[in-house]
Amino acid sequence: MLKISERLIQVAELVPKGSRLIDVGTDHGYVPIWLLQNGRIPSAIAMDVNKGPLMRAEENRDRYGFTDVMELRLSNGLEKVKPGEGDAVLIAGMGGPLMIRIIEEGRENAGGVSSWVLQPQSEIPSVRRYLIEHGFRIVQEIMLKDEGKYYMAMCAVPGESEPWKDIEYLFGKYLLEQQHPVLAEFIEKEWRLYEKIQTQLTETNQTETARYQEVKAYLCALEQAKTYNQQTL
Ligand code: SAM
Repeated sequence: MLKISERLIQVAELVPKGSRLIDVGTDHGYVPIWLLQNGRIPSAIAMDVNKGPLMRAEENRDRYGFTDVMELRLSNGLEKVKPGEGDAVLIAGMGGPLMIRIIEEGRENAGGVSSWVLQPQSEIPSVRRYLIEHGFRIVQEIMLKDEGKYYMAMCAVPGESEPWKDIEYLFGKYLLEQQHPVLAEFIEKEWRLYEKIQTQLTETNQTETARYQEVKAYLCALEQAKTYNQQTL
């Protein structure tokens, strides 16, 4: 059996069971292979813009015996997909701006896809905002820590959504509502770090700088996140 990281397991588990998966930026192909091995999906199209990763995915696919049900495609984003070919798209381990571009340019090609599983590595608030302002509803969010690093991932479906508050874009509405333990740990850690930074800036007479204002605003957001449920009651 293929062993994959905790990050990849938790992201893979967001893919609805029974979906024909389209994995964009598959690299090693581990997620589709793991999902196939566990009987969670019937088939996958694994795509990557680079030949090297796609060759790695091909080797792994053949080693684990999924040649018939896992197709490989060299594709920039969703360029080489046609409507109706998949039920779920997965995009993981990429920066938020690239992810947004892939969704924006490729969503027509992905017609018929009912679930978008996304794990952005950066600019996560921009991804949430993009989804909500462009005809998606976020239906599930997770946060996890793997080898000391924090990750957030989500599942979105096509549909209209009420706008979220800034704090919800920043930390995730459902994560805040649940008081997710990993989010709570992250907020405490950030709080301690940014309080130290604020003290240092104060001690070095930098209270009039843009950096100080940024730090102050972030600390205020962290405070809001800590008391989120009390504010929305
Ligand atoms: N999805 C895997 C994961 O989460 O572990 C691999 C992430 S890896 C860091 C990013 C992969 O995305 C690389 O294999 C890279 O070649 C691919 N990639 C980058 N830009 C892409 C694009 N525009 N379209 C498809 N694949 C892309």
